[in-house]
Amino acid sequence: MTIKELIAPEAITLTNEEIRRYSRHLIMPEVGMEGQKKLKAASVLLIGAGGLGSPLAMYLAAAGIGRIGLVDYDVVSYSNLQRQVIHGTSSVGRPKLESARERINDINPFVQIDTYGEPLTSENALVIMEPYDVIIDGTDNFPTRYLTNDACVLLGKPNVYGSIFRFEGQASVFYAEEGPCYRCLFPEPPPPGLVPSCAEGGVLGVLPGTIGAIQATEAIKLILGTGISLIGRLLLYDALNMEFDEVRLRKNPECPVCGPEPTVTELIDYEQFCGVPAHDHSLYTAGMDGAELARVPQMSPSELNERLNAGEKLFILDVREPHEWAISNLSHLGAVLIPKNRVLEHMGELDTAQEIVVQCRTGGRSAEIVNLLQQHGYKKLHNLDGGINRWAREVDPSIPIY
Ligand SMILES: [Zn+2]
Repeated sequence: MTIKELIAPEAITLTNEEIRRYSRHLIMPEVGMEGQKKLKAASVLLIGAGGLGSPLAMYLAAAGIGRIGLVDYDVVSYSNLQRQVIHGTSSVGRPKLESARERINDINPFVQIDTYGEPLTSENALVIMEPYDVIIDGTDNFPTRYLTNDACVLLGKPNVYGSIFRFEGQASVFYAEEGPCYRCLFPEPPPPGLVPSCAEGGVLGVLPGTIGAIQATEAIKLILGTGISLIGRLLLYDALNMEFDEVRLRKNPECPVCGPEPTVTELIDYEQFCGVPAHDHSLYTAGMDGAELARVPQMSPSELNERLNAGEKLFILDVREPHEWAISNLSHLGAVLIPKNRVLEHMGELDTAQEIVVQCRTGGRSAEIVNLLQQHGYKKLHNLDGGINRWAREVDPSIPIY
């Protein structure tokens, strides 16, 4: 298949400088002058300028895609640099769109770059996506993934999908005109909290390079109209065992968005649909509703510090994993580690009479444990707001932030 309605390549010209730049493409019959002109005529929208967006933007720019749109509202942080190779150390603290634009400009000044420094939402998604030939999903959360899928189905555009977690990645091309969509595969999102994000579970730094390069390859093939695409196939990659596998996908005749009798005919509230926030990883409180969250008493790091300094007895319960404890901990303040999924079995060791401050990395998991302990009758509870990372920022800069 090929992308319909590309600008007629005859209307596109390549300068001598561009011909030199793309010579390794031009000498391949599968690309040639005509293919290179198609790439120049094409426009691709990247949802996310992070792990997947980094190799995607760089390779698509280098390949000569004429117009690249980037949607991202985040700023570069130190914890991004392990995998988001489009951003450098000197860009920490700057908007990702700025550093990505500079890098793309340096790779290929012939590329037009459009930037959208806002979260993709049900209100803006159709307007942002509409002008582009190919949409590429480089998101890290389910609400945005379903939003991207549904918007692509409604607009009749191909959605080049990729996802990464720890050592494993997936890629496919969801194009409802020709095959299944993401919802054909996953009609419903996973229960909140079942699938941790990369921010919670980690990701091998090189993994988005592999999956992002596969997505860039698929986008280029769609534009050239060459080869066999991943439409109808889900590619599975296991980096730890270095294995590729694939699953055949079928269009689901009952699909709520791309089936013959769709029930989703316009964009919906995807955060509600998935039961998790799309745009705030710091308070990933899976399985808790707003009322439960509102009942979690928050304590700021400075308040905890003042009370400890005043000699008050507060028991700090760290609910992270042992390998996180090895990075940073408050053991010098008497903190005790009981990983989140073992709190129930160790509940008897917690003193109901004592004030307990529950703490994790950024305050999400600990809020869940406060909620759990509340349900078991504990009353003197606090959630360390912002977790040990905020403690490190505001109270003790000697503690590393991760
Ligand atoms: Zn579908």
